[in-house]
Amino acid sequence: MVTTTFDFNFGVYMVSDLITDGAWNIDLVNRVFNERDRKLILSIPLRRSSSIDLQFWKHDKRGSYSVSSAYKLQTQESDTAVGNKKFWKKLWSIPAAPKIRNFLWRAVSGSLPTRSRLCSRHVPTTEVCPLCNVDCESVKHVLVECSFARHVWLASHLGWFSPSTHSFQDWLMRALALFNPNDSATLAYLCWSIWEERNSVVWKSAQPAANSCRLRGLRLKREWDDALVSIRAAIPPTADLPTPQEWKKPGPNWVKLNVDIATNVNSGWTGIGMVVRNEMGSFVACKISRMVGLFSPTIAEIMGVREALSWIKDNNWQNVIVESDNLQVVNVLNSMNVENFSMMGGIVSDCRSLINEISCEILFSHVFRSANGVAHALAQATRSFPNAMEWTLSPPEFVTHLLL
Ligand SMILES: [Zn+2]
Repeated sequence: MVTTTFDFNFGVYMVSDLITDGAWNIDLVNRVFNERDRKLILSIPLRRSSSIDLQFWKHDKRGSYSVSSAYKLQTQESDTAVGNKKFWKKLWSIPAAPKIRNFLWRAVSGSLPTRSRLCSRHVPTTEVCPLCNVDCESVKHVLVECSFARHVWLASHLGWFSPSTHSFQDWLMRALALFNPNDSATLAYLCWSIWEERNSVVWKSAQPAANSCRLRGLRLKREWDDALVSIRAAIPPTADLPTPQEWKKPGPNWVKLNVDIATNVNSGWTGIGMVVRNEMGSFVACKISRMVGLFSPTIAEIMGVREALSWIKDNNWQNVIVESDNLQVVNVLNSMNVENFSMMGGIVSDCRSLINEISCEILFSHVFRSANGVAHALAQATRSFPNAMEWTLSPPEFVTHLLL
C-alpha cells in the first residue's frame, strides 16, 4: 500500500511510467514517493521481458499456497498475539534436558492433566489437590502454591516466591526474567520433580516426601550437566574451526564463472562482480556493473546470476559452471522447472529464457564464500566504479593477488 500523498503533476499515472529501459527510474521514484514507499518500490525486481501480472502467496519461498505454510503463519501469529515470543525463546533455551523443557512447555500450554483440567473436561474426578488435599489442583497450584511445593522450593537455594500472578505462565515468565540460566534450569527440574511426586501419589498411592522430591530434581540436573561436560570434552577442539574452502578449477572444456553482489543500503543500487576462469584456473574475463534498486540479498543474488547469463550469451564460452555463494539461489536455479510464483519467480523465468538462448551447457553450483573472493572483491569495487567495466586481456590490479 502506497502511503505517499499523490501529486499527479509528476505525470505518473501508471506503474509503467516509473520504469525506463526495464529498470526503475530512480530519479522519478525519488521525486514522487516518500522514503518508505521509495524503499519498497526500489526493492521490487523488474523482469526483462514483459509478463502478465500474477498473485503469489508471500509466506512461501516459491510463492505457492500450502496448508503447512498457512499453519506456520497462524501459529507464529498466535504467539505474537500474546506477546510472548521472547518468553518461548527463553523457555527453550533453558540449559536442561529436552524432556524437562518439554515438561515446562506442557505446563505452560495447559496440557498437564491436573484435576481441575480433567473436571473442566467433564472427567468424573475430584478437583482437590492430591498433595495437600485442600485446594483445587491447577498447574499453578500444584507446582507453586501448594504447601507441598512450597516446602520443596523453600528447601532449595531458589526459595519460594509467588507474586500475585494470574497463571503458571505469568509466574514462570517472572521467574525466568529474574533467574540466571543455571537457576532457571534448577527451577525447571524442581517443577518436573514435583509433578513426578504428584503422579506417584495419584497412581502409586505413595506418601509425598518434599525432601526426596527436591533431591531427585537436583540429581537429575547434575547428571545432565555432567553428561554435557563429558560430551564437550569428547569433541576435539579443531572440530569447531571450519577449514576455509578454496576455489577449484573447472574440468576440461569447461569455464567457471563466479558471481557475487555488493549491497549499499543508502545508495539505491546493488553492485555485481563476475569473473570467468578456464580449466587451467587462468583468468579469462571479468566484469563489474551496478543494478538500480535496493533488493533483498537473495533477490539481488539471483539478479546477479541473470546478469551473468546475459554476459555468457554475449560471449562464445564453452560449457560454463556458474558459481554463487548463496545456496538458496543455487537451489532455486537447479529446480527451475518447478513453478515459482514468488517475487523471485519473474527473475527465474528470465534466467530460463536466457539459458534457452545460450547454445553451451550451463551448470549452477554453490561455493563457500571463502572460495568466492575474486567475485566478492569485484562486486565491492563497484563502489569506486559507477559505470559497467569489463576486462579481458588481464585482470584489474585490485584482484590480481586473489587469482591463482
Ligand atoms: Zn495442593
